[in-house]
Amino acid sequence: MSQTISVISGDGIGPEIMSASIRVLDALDCGFTYEYVEAGLNALDQHGDLLPEATLESIRRNRVALKGPLTTPVGMGFRSINVTLRELFDLYANVRPVVSMPGTHSRFDGVDIITVRENTEGAYLAADALLSEDGNTAESKMVITRKGSERVTRYAFELARRTSRRKVTLVHKANILKTVSGLFLDVSREVAKDYPDIECAEMIVDATCMKLVMDPQLFDVIVTTNLFGDIISDLCAGLVGGLGLAPGANIGKEVAIFEAVHGSAPDIAGRKIANPCALLLTAVQMLSHLEMQEQADRLHGAITNTIAERDRITPDLAGNGNTDSFADAIISRL
Ligand code: ATP
Repeated sequence: MSQTISVISGDGIGPEIMSASIRVLDALDCGFTYEYVEAGLNALDQHGDLLPEATLESIRRNRVALKGPLTTPVGMGFRSINVTLRELFDLYANVRPVVSMPGTHSRFDGVDIITVRENTEGAYLAADALLSEDGNTAESKMVITRKGSERVTRYAFELARRTSRRKVTLVHKANILKTVSGLFLDVSREVAKDYPDIECAEMIVDATCMKLVMDPQLFDVIVTTNLFGDIISDLCAGLVGGLGLAPGANIGKEVAIFEAVHGSAPDIAGRKIANPCALLLTAVQMLSHLEMQEQADRLHGAITNTIAERDRITPDLAGNGNTDSFADAIISRL
């Protein structure tokens, strides 16, 4: 039976990169059926709801979604759609790999890092956020749990083992945030003991940022809490050529939603110059998740070769091509 994928094209550059990516997936002959569903600004316009029930139902049924970036309107009491999706489907691990690719003008070679970011708790959720009436004091609660820390760290070590990686670095700020970051570190250390075959390192988040930009080859798999993972994964994208090359997967027990790290890029939306590779590399993660490794490797190879030969690539990689020409160049190498 063919796999059905829920597809959310998204806002801003979303529809442009999604249609290019689906063309590439069709050329790869994956046998997927696509169920297009709405979320974000389109859904708000058409259905008066940023996240219609029909969309949630489709994701629940198909268990796999490929998603473009979504814009949450500022103000008006809207909660982030991305955060809501992660919470509703308990997508506890956000997996963000970056790999150096020949042909990009990035500062380093040989970078190969996966950031595993806890996705359901911590400061990023801004729980119980309050602004005082006089506007002078703001507060929000940061909650870290044993369960959240345990399952994301276990996911990172299992991923390392499954993909023959040698090291996992626990990134924290337990020296200052002694309770919240301290609990994450304590629990992660306990989990690490179950994986004696994998080296476990610990690093404070600020030092991690410095070392990443000085010596990124020190890192292999990083596991960390939500907000630190958000920042570190963008930093890592910068090490390999920017957000146009940074994919991501949100993994839960029942459902997985695949989305690039970047946002809706309103500054370039509608110009057809967005790089489709972050979403295509996200599709590579989706293919691996669906145990279609042969297709995943073929797609990854075609992307890598297209960039190495700088064939019809987009302006963010200093090329003269556009979204569609980039996709065509990848298709010609499949
Ligand atoms: P968000 O808050 O959703 O992360 P943002 O505006 O902070 O949104 P992005 O939308 O990711 O961040 O954009 C950051 C910068 O990266 C912008 O200048 C944008 O044009 C660029 N960018 C993002 N994605 C791509 C892409 N696929 N191709 C080319 N440039 C991109």
